[in-house]
Amino acid sequence: MQRYEKICIYENIFVLLRRKSPKRRKIMGKTLHKVLLISTGGTITMVRDKSSGALVPADMETFKAYMPELFAGEIQVDIEAFNPLFDSSDIGPDKWAQMAQMVYDRYEDYDGFVILHGTDTMSYSASALSFMLEGLNKPVVFTGSQLPVGVLRSDAKENLMTAIEIAAAQDEDGDAIVPEVTVFFEDRLFRANRTTKRNAEHFSAFNSYNYPALAKAGVHITYQPHLVHYNDVNAELHLHTAYDPNVAVLKLFPGIQQSVVRAVLRTKGLRALVLETFGAGNAPSDKWLYRELKAAVDKGIIIVNKTQCNTGSVEMGLYAVSLNLMKAGVLSGYDITTEALLTKMMYLLGEHGDNPALVKKLLMTDLCGEVTIDNN
Ligand code: ASP
Repeated sequence: MQRYEKICIYENIFVLLRRKSPKRRKIMGKTLHKVLLISTGGTITMVRDKSSGALVPADMETFKAYMPELFAGEIQVDIEAFNPLFDSSDIGPDKWAQMAQMVYDRYEDYDGFVILHGTDTMSYSASALSFMLEGLNKPVVFTGSQLPVGVLRSDAKENLMTAIEIAAAQDEDGDAIVPEVTVFFEDRLFRANRTTKRNAEHFSAFNSYNYPALAKAGVHITYQPHLVHYNDVNAELHLHTAYDPNVAVLKLFPGIQQSVVRAVLRTKGLRALVLETFGAGNAPSDKWLYRELKAAVDKGIIIVNKTQCNTGSVEMGLYAVSLNLMKAGVLSGYDITTEALLTKMMYLLGEHGDNPALVKKLLMTDLCGEVTIDNN
């Protein structure tokens, strides 16, 4: 595989990326790849309780017993687990910080990381980690399953085995092939901050509507290195665990009342809002909506326009019904997902909350592949 060199544009700075080989351990002449498996919970960790018949999180020894092959292969897999394990509906910013801290603390010891996580909020957690782990040069692969590990038809084993292989995958120079935060599910590897949970039933639970898959897993795993976001390998890993949860999502709908919009915008402490709009970023042209949005922006609340469509981008100004939003000072979210935008807001407000101009500027900047901004 070729040695990658990339030009990265960040805030108008051009950087030549030259990749160096990480230190690798050799045991009896054989390179040993090491992956840390961080278990937070979710369906993948569950087994059926014999007495009650209900699904309960398994302890890690029971979990391991379902997949002995995983721990006997060529990749050394160590486990660290949250205690207790969580359904992902109970995972939020404090636990994102905990996951990011675990990766940061063990960064030098492993070639890659796999995070077991419930599917319901996986895209939020994985997006958050993509911002919290700045300068990442190793794979952090989120995975889970739709059926518990203890169920015969479970997708747990396939998802986990492949995620581990991806986390350990390196080219002949010893460089990680996908050194990003990603989500692997069924047969696709996606950039984490481009994903959305799309299906509560099928094994193919996630999609990345606005960015192609970074790899496809069939008989072989086919990587698409030209789509991968590479950081400068000489960059240090920086951990950012500060966050500000004073954000909200407001989904517009035909017939929405002023009282509803006002209640959200006047929420005490609100600092930023994801405004989910129609089509290419359109909203009702009622004068009251403009006035409410303008008043909020004037008060310092940052409002970003995110289309309710899964695919495509906000294009403010294309239709007259988006002009009011522009005039009110609403920013464009381009083609970002709600999950990535919301977690990016929390992260930026946590890091730079005292500098709203910088928060706005960075919201309009592609930090790690989360948004496509067409500057032409
Ligand atoms: N409710 C579960 C969770 O998100 C669903 C799953 O893991 O698929 O934790």
